[in-house]
Amino acid sequence: MTEKVNLLSLSPKKMADFFVELGEKPFRAQQMLKWIHQLGEDNFDNMTNMSKALRAKLAEVAEITLPEIVLEKTSTDGTRKWVMRMPGGSSIETVFIPEKDRGTLCISSQIGCALDCSFCSTGKQGFNRDLSVAEIIGQVFVASKSFDVPGERRERKITNVVLMGMGEPLMNFDNVVDAMDIMLDDFAYSLSKRRVTLSTSGVVPMLEKLGDVSDVSLALSLHATNNELRDQLVPINKKYPLEKLIPAVKTYLDKLPDRRKATIEYTLINKVNDEMEHVEEMAKLLKDVPCKINLIPFNPFPHSGYERPSNNRLYRFRDALHNKGFIVTIRTTRGDDIDAACGQLVGQVEDKTRRQEQYIKLKELTGTVNKHV
Ligand code: SAH
Ligand code: SF4
Repeated sequence: MTEKVNLLSLSPKKMADFFVELGEKPFRAQQMLKWIHQLGEDNFDNMTNMSKALRAKLAEVAEITLPEIVLEKTSTDGTRKWVMRMPGGSSIETVFIPEKDRGTLCISSQIGCALDCSFCSTGKQGFNRDLSVAEIIGQVFVASKSFDVPGERRERKITNVVLMGMGEPLMNFDNVVDAMDIMLDDFAYSLSKRRVTLSTSGVVPMLEKLGDVSDVSLALSLHATNNELRDQLVPINKKYPLEKLIPAVKTYLDKLPDRRKATIEYTLINKVNDEMEHVEEMAKLLKDVPCKINLIPFNPFPHSGYERPSNNRLYRFRDALHNKGFIVTIRTTRGDDIDAACGQLVGQVEDKTRRQEQYIKLKELTGTVNKHV
C-alpha cells in the first residue's frame, strides 16, 4: 500500500493538485484548507460539506497527522509555550507572545541548526534534520487550536508569525516556503504578508531565491558590524560576508511590492559587540537599508562564555543608535518563568550525526563550508 498523504502538509497549490488527481473540482481544496486550518478539524467524518463517498476515499488515501504535543505551558504574563515531540525522539519548541494589539507566534523550522552561531544555544545543540511542511505548519495549527472554545467561533489570536525559533529557515527553503504559503492563504490562516517574518542569519543565495517566490517580511540576524567579529559570532559570514549580505537584503526589500523595512536583529553581548565603535560601524553599514533595529540582550545559557550587558550599556547603545537616526527597540524578555526567551528555545536534538546532511547541503550551496559545520 502506498503511504497516505498528510493533508496538513499541502500548500494551496498542492492541495488543488491533490483533489484534481482524485477527480474532484479544485474548490474542494479550499474547503479542505478551511476545515483544517480555520476550523481545526482533523477528522474526515466531520467534514459535512464533502460527500460520504469522498470522505471514504479521503480516509483511504489521506490523513491529517499532527505533531505530538508533550508539553503546553502558560506563563504568568500570558506567553504560552509548546514542546512538540518529533518521530525519532527530538523535540521542538513554539512560543506565543500576546501583546496589546497583536499576538505573535514564534515557530521553528529545523530540529537544531547547523550554522553554529557562537551565542545561540540552538546552534550549540547541533543539527538533526529539517522539519517537514506538516511539522512547520502544525505548530500554527496546534497554537491556533489551543485558543478555541468549544461551540464558539474561532477567535483569531495569532496575528503575526515569526520564523525565529529553532533552525535557519533558509536552509529548509522549500518546506518553509510551502508552510508560509499556507499561512498567507485566504482559505487557511489568511495572515498578512507583512505579519509573517522570516529571520535569517544570512544565507545569501537562498535570500535571493526567496525574493523570487515570496514577499514576506524579513529579519536579518546581524549581530556584528564588521566581518572579523561576525565571522566569530555568525560563522556563515565567512562564506557570505557583509559586503554580499547587505546588498542582498536591499535587493529583497526592493522586490517587495510595498515599502517595507527589514528588521535588523542584534543580540547585544557584553563587551563583545556593544561598544560605541560598533554603533559607528552600524550606521555606515545600514545607511542605505530601510530598517528598524531590534536589540536583543543576550540570554545566557551554561558554558556560553558570554554575558548579558548591564542595562546602562544596553541603553547607551540604544541611545547612540537613536541619535544616528535609527528606529530602535529593545526586545523585552517574555515568558521568563517558562524558559520561552530568545535563544532558550532549545528543544531536544537527538542523533546529531545527521548534521552531515546539512553539511552536504551547505557544501552544494556554497562550494565550501565553514569549519564549524
Ligand atoms: N536562524 C535564524 C532564526 C532563528 S534565531 C536566525 O539566526 O535569524 C532567532 C533570533 O534569536 C536570532 O536573531 C538569534 O540571533 C537570536 N538568538 C539566538 N540565541 C540567542 C541568545 N542566547 N540570546 C539572545 N538572542 C539569541
Ligand atoms: Fe542557527 Fe539562527 Fe542559532 Fe545561528 S542564531 S545557530 S542561524 S538558529
